Amino acid sequence: MRFMGIVLSLSLGLQVAHAEAVKQTKGDFEDKFRQLEEHLPTPNVYRTGSGAPGHAYWQQEVDYKVKVALNEKERTITGSEHVVYQNNSPDTLSYLWLQLDQNRFSKHSDAYTTMEMGREASKKLSYSTMRFLARTEFEDWGFQLTKVKSGGKDVRYTINDTMMRIDLDKPLKPGEKFEFDIDWWFNIPEGKAMGARGGYEPYKRDGNDIFFIAQWFPRLAAYTDLAGWEHKQFLGTGEFTLEFGDYDVEITVPADHIVGSTGVLQNPKDVLTADQRKRLEEAKTAERPVFIVTHEEALENEKEGTDQTKTWHFKAENVRDFAFASSRKFVWDALGVKMPDSGRTVMAMSLYPDEAMPLWDKYSTHSIAHTLDTYSRYSFEYPYPVAWSVNGPIGGGMEYPMITSNGPRPVIEKKDNGEEVRTYTKRAKYGLISVIIHEIGHIYFPMVVNSDERNWAWMDEGLNSFLQSQAEREWEVEYPSRYGRAKEAIPYMVSPDQTPIMTQSDSIIGYGPNAYTKPAVALNILRETVMGRELFDFAFKEYAQRWKFKRPYPADFFRTMEDASGKDLDWFFRGWFYTTDHVDIAVTGLTHAQINTGDPEVENQFKREEDLEAQRYIAEMRNKADGMPRRVDRFPELLDFYNENDDFIVTKAQKDAYAGMLKGLEDWQKELLKFGHELYFIDFENIGGLVMPLVLDVEFEDGSHEEVRVAAEIWRSDAKHATKVLVRDKKIKSVTLDPYNEIADAEKANNVWPPKPHVSRVELYKRRAEQRNLMKEYLETQEAEEAKGDEAEDSEPQ
Ligand SMILES: [Zn+2]
Repeated sequence: MRFMGIVLSLSLGLQVAHAEAVKQTKGDFEDKFRQLEEHLPTPNVYRTGSGAPGHAYWQQEVDYKVKVALNEKERTITGSEHVVYQNNSPDTLSYLWLQLDQNRFSKHSDAYTTMEMGREASKKLSYSTMRFLARTEFEDWGFQLTKVKSGGKDVRYTINDTMMRIDLDKPLKPGEKFEFDIDWWFNIPEGKAMGARGGYEPYKRDGNDIFFIAQWFPRLAAYTDLAGWEHKQFLGTGEFTLEFGDYDVEITVPADHIVGSTGVLQNPKDVLTADQRKRLEEAKTAERPVFIVTHEEALENEKEGTDQTKTWHFKAENVRDFAFASSRKFVWDALGVKMPDSGRTVMAMSLYPDEAMPLWDKYSTHSIAHTLDTYSRYSFEYPYPVAWSVNGPIGGGMEYPMITSNGPRPVIEKKDNGEEVRTYTKRAKYGLISVIIHEIGHIYFPMVVNSDERNWAWMDEGLNSFLQSQAEREWEVEYPSRYGRAKEAIPYMVSPDQTPIMTQSDSIIGYGPNAYTKPAVALNILRETVMGRELFDFAFKEYAQRWKFKRPYPADFFRTMEDASGKDLDWFFRGWFYTTDHVDIAVTGLTHAQINTGDPEVENQFKREEDLEAQRYIAEMRNKADGMPRRVDRFPELLDFYNENDDFIVTKAQKDAYAGMLKGLEDWQKELLKFGHELYFIDFENIGGLVMPLVLDVEFEDGSHEEVRVAAEIWRSDAKHATKVLVRDKKIKSVTLDPYNEIADAEKANNVWPPKPHVSRVELYKRRAEQRNLMKEYLETQEAEEAKGDEAEDSEPQ
């Protein structure tokens, strides 16, 4: 999903998962480089210490055969499924858990009953929130199960909110299968009104709906080596984690609908016209998107409805879920995208209504193709035959295997003369490209790299937002990206209310910045600053390859990134993922030094100058300037040896000591006393808490610059203060930390030595008296009422 601002916030109390700092019994030293091992699960035969799947890795398989009808008039879904559950685990199971996600819309759901309104709600409530409350309270939502059987016999089951447990008569042993059938129906929610991840969107103009049907059938919950049954309730934020399997789905819809779906269409001759099939064939090898249903055809199609139905038959292999879209409003365009390694052609396809033009026809399918190009390079080749972008019934975006729903649209305005003007905002343009990259990107993470979204939002949102930022940079120069630039994480990282990235999805404070922005920034910093592109890209790709079609947990990512790069990154993951520290490193001093030669002829003069500087004082200066007469001027006999000589005259004792010292030195040591280069000591203070590499722009007096990069390990012995020495032949004029805005340093003002003045523009404003003039309002009201009275008299029936 793409974060679009949370309308309904769920408060579950603060559950701050602080990594426990090691308690020192002496002093307050904090070891920022302490290894993470004590926080990570112990490696075993399923998951290794290298971050790779172990030799005994297993996962369950669940295959579905589903028949579903979309009842357009009633806006309901009626379905029946046959499920084959394959127990590949080494464990014997006495029950199975299923997810009933539609139940979260019920007024009895944990999601609804624990909805926290916020302190201002009793004074101010948005129309959309009030509509949500009214619909939840007074309409029927959730799955209605009409049959649960296995081999024709009833099955015992228990529903616990959004979860359902099927109790097995006979325990399911390792390697065995259990088959069962469920029939159900439910009312389809209006996507935007219910804050759903799918549903319908009604169109006033033609009375048609667009349907995007998701999380629509009872789905097997994941059973894993690390967590057992993943049966946390669906509270709306933490998405889901499911098992891979094969799907055979027959979708019955009104005969004039166009359907896009997970999987490959099995019966094109039954549901597509000869023209449409021909155009699809052309699109496979076309350079640019080809219309399968043109704009004109879609406009014609939406004019009339029908009572006839058609059944679209899809099959999908090795997917973790299944979704589909259906409407008679759809324009359909398609483009074949050649995969880099296998040479396979993937069909990038878009479905959208007339109301989405001109924006979707220009950008949607191109955005899909661009995502397939870029993501495949950073991770693995897109493994499925199709990738859909549907202009669906929700505002933001949402992903399912092979199919995504995306929101942004153009602005349609009617002029006074009835002429229609269509424009789109910059935000809608880039919002659309970005959301499609994001949602298609989710088909890689977490639809193929099957991480546990219900617990770890960052593993799909963060990794995906990172790759999104890479794909955006490959779209055009200076793409207005929302994720990935280091500075984008700063407002959240300095805010008082936040949780570490390593927080269960539903307990996160600030879901967007926590699960999307901060991890995306963290990965960009790893790539650009900490690891370098080559090491990072290799390790990231290794993680993707190791875990595609498998289920990784956070430790598998952390371990793989180290294992494949040869970099100790524990300090980085500890700081960025387990704490709420931020980056604020200050340059607190710059000392220019030369070697003390020990030679009194040289050093005494240096001390003399130092002393003169220290003795300077205002009273003495003024007395001198005034030519104050002094006693010794009048009585010169009072002057003696001490008036002739300062404390820094060179004595024989000093010379002897110097000669003695030289005698005690070896030649190489004597050589160093003559070391002619400049020494610079730069002092740093760590204010924000996160230890980070030091990236410095060093400016010399001759106008030249040098980029200096110091690894974070400089903070090993003292996480609060560090001094870096530079030995150079040239004199340094200034030092600037983080000159390219790459380490998310929150306070720029303390990054420069010597400090520089702030530059600002002072805006002048007029003072305005804003007092309500009740007397004037009253007179205006009277006038208006009198005028109305006159009108009423005028309009008396003749
Ligand atoms: Zn997302």
